[in-house]
Amino acid sequence: MTQTTNAGSGAEPCILRSFFKSGTTYTQSVHSCSQPLPAGAAASMNHIKRVGKAVLTLMLLTGCSTLPFIEVPSENQNSRVNHLVIHFTSEAFDPSLKALTQTSDRPVSAHYLIPRLDDDTYPYPTLKIFKLVSEADRAWHAGESQWFRETALNDRSIGIELVNRSGCASDATLSKQLKPLAALCRFEDYPSDQIGALIQLIQDIIARHPDISPVNVVGHADIAPDRKVDPGPQFPWQALHQAGIGPWYFERDKAFYLDWVTGNTLDITRAQSALALFGYPIDVTGEQDHQSQRTTRAFQMHYRPNDFTGLIDTETVAITLSLLNRYKPMLLETLQIPTHGVKKP
Ligand SMILES: [Zn+2]
Repeated sequence: MTQTTNAGSGAEPCILRSFFKSGTTYTQSVHSCSQPLPAGAAASMNHIKRVGKAVLTLMLLTGCSTLPFIEVPSENQNSRVNHLVIHFTSEAFDPSLKALTQTSDRPVSAHYLIPRLDDDTYPYPTLKIFKLVSEADRAWHAGESQWFRETALNDRSIGIELVNRSGCASDATLSKQLKPLAALCRFEDYPSDQIGALIQLIQDIIARHPDISPVNVVGHADIAPDRKVDPGPQFPWQALHQAGIGPWYFERDKAFYLDWVTGNTLDITRAQSALALFGYPIDVTGEQDHQSQRTTRAFQMHYRPNDFTGLIDTETVAITLSLLNRYKPMLLETLQIPTHGVKKP
């Protein structure tokens, strides 16, 4: 399409606007230039094509501050967000808000912070959700992390912090078996109104980012079990699942796999492989070493919170296999373990 521009006539403010308007698809308005177009630029399209790069230089000279663009939304795209990570802050509301929003030697943030009404430092009479980082931007909440094949979860996740003063002393044991967390940590309950607000928030987030599949709703401990224990064993994962958020297993599958594990020797290598296939960062060593105990402990706090020693046992394996059976049955078959009640397509 050829078109003689009227740039410089006063009707169009910028040479670039005229140039791109000569195309067939012009959908985006362009920031105006601060000065009128020089007379030499008011030429035909042929001339404009010839000057090519000079247009950009001219843009700078005439004061254009923004490059124009043509917007053609592609059908082939999705949200960059496909994980959701839940944390506790380990501190009261006020220091949590400061830590998540102000500069420091160890800067951290999250997309959302949910307080609790029984916190003396929380200044409002009703529960409000604090939005700290836009969902389009990257918050610094996950740190070094891994879930299935995804590493650096900050790039692909929404992070939610819950005000909760649970915390642990450091675990520097050199013995073969890790110290029980009960001896190192103090875990605090989550009030029901705080969890209600969280469920409502996550339902909204998942509606905006439908690529967040149930298995990709995780706790910080799930994706960084060597460093983190949050949101801890008091966090009501099963209640979230009942509200349509995150995975859980069927009891009938657990009974089936308890039988299956009981009839077979407890195979630590295969149990570690099953945890890894579900998403947990664990090295398949065949040994209940420290890294295995930390990862298994994170799994147990999530799916068997009344007993989280970190040692792989028959119930832990049965729950892992039940989850794989429900959410990733094809991967279960790669372990040469039977599926249960899965309808084949
Ligand atoms: Zn955390």
